[in-house]
Amino acid sequence: MQITKHKVVKIHYTLTDDDGEVIDSSEGGEPLEYLHGVGGIIPGLERVLEGKKAGDQFKLHVEPEDAYGDHDEDLLHEVDRSQFEGIDDLELGMQFQVDTDDGPIVVTVIEITDETVTVDGNHELAGIPLNFEVTVGDVRDATKEEIEHGHAHGEGCHEH
Ligand code: ZN
Repeated sequence: MQITKHKVVKIHYTLTDDDGEVIDSSEGGEPLEYLHGVGGIIPGLERVLEGKKAGDQFKLHVEPEDAYGDHDEDLLHEVDRSQFEGIDDLELGMQFQVDTDDGPIVVTVIEITDETVTVDGNHELAGIPLNFEVTVGDVRDATKEEIEHGHAHGEGCHEH
């Protein structure tokens, strides 16, 4: 079965940066399962998966504009240190979920002074070219419910 819109696809993948450092991998774990054709994975990867079938393997280089976007300076925010009151061990690299008009996003602490804390709302892979090694696993038709929800439902429990 070929991958087309509204197929549910399992892929095993290894993701590395241009220095060959492994950023993420499904090896030894569960494959990633996603609903194809609805933008649930990065555009550069989804485009290449179109038309592939179970057992296909490929390597792929994806530039930031087809992945998590360029690093956007507008997503850096300096906030008053008092907003982090009650967090004793505030340190660089800590991540917090904050609510925005566009829904919740994860921000990372990148600078701390006595007065202020600077947080970065960019995705941690923004601005980074990505290299994928992908093996396509099972491909099946999505259920009506999955298409309505816009995502794949795994074998485990699914809460809504
Ligand atoms: Zn759902």
